[in-house]
Amino acid sequence: MSTKPNYDPQSIEAARQQAWEQRGDFAAPRPSDGQERVYVKPSSPFTSGNLHMGHVRDYSLGDAYARFRRGRGDAVLFGFGFDAFGLPAELAAIERQEPPAEWVAECGERMLGQMRRLGLSFDYDRVFYSSDEGQYRWSQWLFVTLLERDLIYRADATVDWCDTCQTTLASIQVEDGRCWRCHNEVRLIRRPTWFLRITPYLEENDRNTDQLAAGGKWDDLSLATQRYILGRADGVEIDLGAGDRSLTAFTPYRKFAGLASFVLLSPRHPDVDAWIGEDSVREELERMRSGGWDRSARDARSVPVVDTGASIAGPDGSELPVVVSPIVDARFGPTAALGIPAIDEADRDIAERLERVESPERGEEDGPAPSPADGARDAIRYRANDFSISRQRSWGTPIPVVLCEKCGPVPVPEADLPVVLPRDIKPTGEGNPLAERPDFVDVDCPKCGGAAKRETDTLDCHFDALWLWVPAAVPPEDRDEQMFTHPDLREWLPSERLVAGNDSGGFVFDQRVVTKALRDIGPFDFMTDGEPFAGCLFHEMVIADGRKMSKHLGNVVNPDELVSHHGADTVRLAVLYAAGPAKTLNWNDGAVRFASRFLRGLWTYTNDRLAQIEDLEHDPEAAADTEHMRDRLRKWCENGLARITEDVEQLQMHKAIRNITRLFERIQDFEKRVVQRRGQLGRADAEAQIAALVLLARTLVPFAPHVAEELLVTAGIEDSAPSLEVWPEVAEIPVSAEAPTAS
Ligand SMILES: [Zn+2]
Ligand SMILES: [Zn+2]
Repeated sequence: MSTKPNYDPQSIEAARQQAWEQRGDFAAPRPSDGQERVYVKPSSPFTSGNLHMGHVRDYSLGDAYARFRRGRGDAVLFGFGFDAFGLPAELAAIERQEPPAEWVAECGERMLGQMRRLGLSFDYDRVFYSSDEGQYRWSQWLFVTLLERDLIYRADATVDWCDTCQTTLASIQVEDGRCWRCHNEVRLIRRPTWFLRITPYLEENDRNTDQLAAGGKWDDLSLATQRYILGRADGVEIDLGAGDRSLTAFTPYRKFAGLASFVLLSPRHPDVDAWIGEDSVREELERMRSGGWDRSARDARSVPVVDTGASIAGPDGSELPVVVSPIVDARFGPTAALGIPAIDEADRDIAERLERVESPERGEEDGPAPSPADGARDAIRYRANDFSISRQRSWGTPIPVVLCEKCGPVPVPEADLPVVLPRDIKPTGEGNPLAERPDFVDVDCPKCGGAAKRETDTLDCHFDALWLWVPAAVPPEDRDEQMFTHPDLREWLPSERLVAGNDSGGFVFDQRVVTKALRDIGPFDFMTDGEPFAGCLFHEMVIADGRKMSKHLGNVVNPDELVSHHGADTVRLAVLYAAGPAKTLNWNDGAVRFASRFLRGLWTYTNDRLAQIEDLEHDPEAAADTEHMRDRLRKWCENGLARITEDVEQLQMHKAIRNITRLFERIQDFEKRVVQRRGQLGRADAEAQIAALVLLARTLVPFAPHVAEELLVTAGIEDSAPSLEVWPEVAEIPVSAEAPTAS
């Protein structure tokens, strides 16, 4: 063995990546009997053009875990596809005045190049784009299938509308009353809209969340998002009034229901119109619906409130005014709720705005005496609700429906799928160019054969995302013929671990709903609990200088620049080490300096020791004298390995890396102590030390795979995936003072 030159990440990384690619090391294997199947699902990126540091964090976490599981001998599928439809691609294409299809293809290629350069061990043959015909054909299949089961419906409904983007938005795309893309205020309008019905599965999602928590493979952050989106409130409900003047009202205040002084109705309550008598009130309600409301601000002092003028008999027989306000939605979903100003701060604020309601004095110290209502029964409300899945934009999956004047909306028969999206459409940012294409719009009705029009709304990319975790598990060559019923799904699903940013909670929630629907419909009957992810790790975002990265602030960290300066291993190690996944990563150069110093140090140290060992003779007396020191080194290695293994199992990569650096310090410490005692290492000491360094390199493979594998190859390990990708089960450090058998 010869002395290696200085650590040169660029050449090492190029060589390792070439070897992986040539050997096809990361192709998902056909699992053998008894082998554990592990599908690690990374997030599906938008084709935005470039990877950002959040992606680097996301994929470094997932990659480390995938490599760890491969090293343990498990069959690993690590694959993903691009969420390529929707506004981000469309807006970028408008800006560049090119068809979105071209923009998406360019972005995808560039991003895949960045991923390869980072050494991410995806099965790249399985990459897909949600905007490919062979892919969205299945989005359309899913639409028709859910439509047949009444889990999709069309309703003339109040929806969030963005004037700037000229489109309806799903509630998940409205943040603090603003559009998720352009950040302009949204308002409500009424128009025919397609909805995904999620309410039948809310209770099961609720129950299962506790089970997932008990299973220990969902981290706190991801569980918290599921509970937040569900928005469960526990309380009681009471039947009020009689006949067609009746309502069931909810309150979380079991003990104080008898103190109610008004009833709040959601503007989305199915019976709301029955309570609007006068035209002036109706107009006021319409104004409220079209004027927009701030969904998340729960400020009861400014939220719209419409007094219907009607009343209903309360639990104690008194007349309770019926009032409409979207604050109900923000708290309990589209329901009716008791207003109890005596006990509830928000209700008190509303009472002060109502002429017909007497508001209690503020500042009472003790609060009112409990006053439960007769006939109250336990009840639960969920804030989560059905959401719109259609948009008036052209870059999306065409909704496979024909609108016929005679037959109404008619689904396109499965044999006629896909309904192809014209690829040459150039959106302008206003309206929907699809609606202006006669070649797309004018069709015969599949039912009566008469002249009809295609639905020109397209599906929100949130709909495509409902099943974007599925295709990677199906071999690409089979996807045209078979998707949801492919036998391989039984091998790989549910995914063992989803690794995604903590803004993915909404996607995950709805993916959990649709899995249950497809279980009940049939194709996913093998996932009996209807859960697509056995485990889930959410991570926080990456910021810089304590602020969100943005071009405007000039604090965007470019991963390409970091990689070309320091190498992929250093960047990966730095991003994993700098913070635990549950913490926001405030990026700074310190992490890169740390990672670079560590890898360079390890590289030089290990290469020097490997070069020196050949010159050392075995000396039985010296070996016996330091045997206890080698035994201590073995124990350090055993301890270190146990800790690192536990950390990686829990995806706490920052802890694992800290323990790897500590183990390296121990190995250096061992040498110092031996040198102190004997003046130099004996052959037995050096062999023990090399064994420890090899162990260390093996634990480093998931994090800094290029340099770690190169060190292993230099140490004489065969350059093949089965030899290099091995997670050590025990620390095999030679301790005995006997002459070594191998030279
Ligand atoms: Zn917008
Ligand atoms: Zn017809």
